[in-house]
Amino acid sequence: MADTLLVHYGEVGIKGQNRPYFERRLMSSVSVVGGSMGVRHVRREPGRLAADIAEGVDADAIARRISEIPGVAWCAVAATHPPDVEAISRAVVELAKAAPPGSFRIESRRADKGLPFRSVDLNRQVGAAVVAATGRPVDLEKAPLVFRIEADRHRFYLFTERIDGPGGLPVGVSGKVIALLSGGLDSPVAAWRMIRRGCRVVCCHFFNPAAGAGAGVREKIDGIVRVLARAQGPTRVYLVPFERIQREIVSSVPASHRMLVYRRAMFRVADRILFRERALALVTGDSVGQVASQTLANMRVIHAATHNPVLTPLAGDDKKDIVAQARRIGTFETSILPYGDCCSFLIAPQPETRGSLEDIVRMEAAIEFEPLVAEAESTAERLLVVANEESAPARPV
Ligand code: ATP
Ligand code: MG
Repeated sequence: MADTLLVHYGEVGIKGQNRPYFERRLMSSVSVVGGSMGVRHVRREPGRLAADIAEGVDADAIARRISEIPGVAWCAVAATHPPDVEAISRAVVELAKAAPPGSFRIESRRADKGLPFRSVDLNRQVGAAVVAATGRPVDLEKAPLVFRIEADRHRFYLFTERIDGPGGLPVGVSGKVIALLSGGLDSPVAAWRMIRRGCRVVCCHFFNPAAGAGAGVREKIDGIVRVLARAQGPTRVYLVPFERIQREIVSSVPASHRMLVYRRAMFRVADRILFRERALALVTGDSVGQVASQTLANMRVIHAATHNPVLTPLAGDDKKDIVAQARRIGTFETSILPYGDCCSFLIAPQPETRGSLEDIVRMEAAIEFEPLVAEAESTAERLLVVANEESAPARPV
């Protein structure tokens, strides 16, 4: 009977002195997410986490949900057996008798090197018992049916299916970042990638009702952040009014250069939010060369507006790969809904692609940014978005 959730981590396991801390963070994520679904008593066992699964709950749904958590390499629902080779052989034979026809193999792992046998010995012995009882052929390469045993001196876990997780690092171990989240395709993927690297992501969206961003934009940002919250838990969002700043820019900067000045102004506001949140870096969805504002020359001009590190996890990605990842993590459908993007507000059809910092600084000299930026930050609306557990679970990535 499936009674235990096994959670394996990849990189978490190789972090030397930080390992106990990383494991605790992962345990906390598994407890928080799994608690409401029937996961009990999350604990550390050699090389993995394990937890009890309450009776009568949907164990597979739990495993699918847990497989979305950053830091999880894979997880499985297992049955616990006494640490006895005869007993585990009998259990595997029973499963093999009930399974559809086809070849099989045994994949054992010793979590405890003190056991008096090697994992290959266990594979052979249990495999031989299955062949003797069922006549099923063994195929070490391509068997559709794999019986997996994780053995230590206290118990043997038995399971067949593993669900791959996103890998990466547990939420929060890398510190906090501010993600500039538009309603588009790229920035949600960028934010998700940083969550997978152990960052806690605070989202920051700039909107301008005059740019045509009506009620729809709120729902859109909300929908995107709910997906991020499935990975990192309750997520803070700043909705920053950008209308006044944009009006000032429109009145003194030529249309060809406005995009650059808008984006620099966003960084100025984001810097304040970073300070308030004690965050360590900004994150954007920039991908080199994708659109006019993302030529290297323009990125240099935009990034020069802040002294904080700007992380651009998609910098070297092709659009098709970003779109594929947006589909897998579940932001694609919301990102493609139409909305009034404040970045396209009164810019030239042919915007500058090779902006020079000197030109931009000269154009910006006419604007007194400090009070505008302070006002935008202090009047921003702050929300906490929680994951919608009823929504379709994101597919493994
Ligand atoms: P995306 O698909 O993320 O919207 P994009 O390809 O449309 O990106 P830009 O519009 O040039 O490119 O935006 C580049 C980056 O600037 C975005 O990925 C995002 O990080 C940030 N950004 C743009 N507009 C906004 C906004 N309204 N609020 C917050 N961040 C924004
Ligand atoms: Mg965009």
